[in-house]
Amino acid sequence: MIKAVEQTYIMVKPDGVQRGLIGEIINRIEQRGLKIVALRMNVIDRGVAMKHYAEHREKPFFSDLISFITSGPSVSLVVEGVNAIKIMRTINGATNSSDAAPGTIRGDFAIDTGRNVVHASDSIESAQKEIALHFSDHELTDYARIDETWVYE
Ligand code: UDP
Ligand code: MG
Repeated sequence: MIKAVEQTYIMVKPDGVQRGLIGEIINRIEQRGLKIVALRMNVIDRGVAMKHYAEHREKPFFSDLISFITSGPSVSLVVEGVNAIKIMRTINGATNSSDAAPGTIRGDFAIDTGRNVVHASDSIESAQKEIALHFSDHELTDYARIDETWVYE
């Protein structure tokens, strides 16, 4: 069977870092079987943040969103796996925190949509754009884990 291996861009937002949730979030990614191929902590540059959220530039929440996302360190990851984009959106939960199901990151740790702890790319196009925006090629690793047959048939 042909399986589509995808890469997606994930961010533990500044609220997730301040609340001590980096490990919790990375644990959920790893225990699902997804593979982390890039990882970095930094304060997102304002210009990078504006490109990252360019689709929302006309929205009323845009300037608060840019201030928040650049307000302190965040953790950026590239996560790889079969259907990784959809799986990570499901792990994160609904954008509106009050709709986020228990068992999702947002459903377990967020109340306010403006403090919803995590980001995940929403499509193949956004994933490619966001990975290229946040990482240089040399930061992306290419390695095999011990035995992927315990994750994929
Ligand atoms: N956001 C917000 N208020 C809103 C909608 C969105 O503060 O009414 C923020 C929130 O942090 C969200 C981000 O803007 O995660 C991007 O919104 P999007 O609709 O792309 O949601 P996501 O892809 O993060 O689920
Ligand atoms: Mg989005």
